[in-house]
Amino acid sequence: DERTIVQINDLFSEIKQIVQQTFPKSIEFSTNIKSDLWAVVADATHLHQVLMNLVVNARDAMPDGGTLNISAENVFIDEQYVRMNLEASVGPYIAIAVTDTGIGMSPEILDRIFEPFFTTKEFGKGTGLGLSTVRGIITSHNGFVKVSSNVGRGTEFKVFLPAVQATA
Ligand code: ADP
Ligand code: MG
Repeated sequence: DERTIVQINDLFSEIKQIVQQTFPKSIEFSTNIKSDLWAVVADATHLHQVLMNLVVNARDAMPDGGTLNISAENVFIDEQYVRMNLEASVGPYIAIAVTDTGIGMSPEILDRIFEPFFTTKEFGKGTGLGLSTVRGIITSHNGFVKVSSNVGRGTEFKVFLPAVQATA
């Protein structure tokens, strides 16, 4: 685990390139990055893996095509937010959202997605380790993950990472 100052713009450029070169053309890809984004102190390779696991899941959720968006914004978490989300602390965060217009998840599936080896994919297509890895990496960076999903409409994963407001 090697922590450096990571700019989310650089991370998104890498992901964008892979998605555009390897995902089906039926998946429309867009990114939306707010200007003056704060940086994070993170293991760049691990963050890359987090984003890849999320976009691959989004791709798998859209076998007939759809829209995949990744976006990032600065969020200042306040005391009121912490009262309702005990895994958060007061301070600056970067929120990275990965949204798809895919099959979505029922509440029963949503309950289990972070369990190691939980998968709804046919044998050989999924290990069920993607999201447990995502959660492990984000937790080790003192961040947290939020999910919202609607069957037949799509899913949003939002990863929150503590940010540094100073520029490198
Ligand atoms: P795997 O992708 O190998 O199945 P993951 O841990 O990455 O394992 O995901 C676990 C399960 O969560 C998936 O099998 C799927 O049922 C569900 N899932 C994850 N991301 C999405 C998504 N974007 N849309 C719908 N279902 C999802
Ligand atoms: Mg996966």
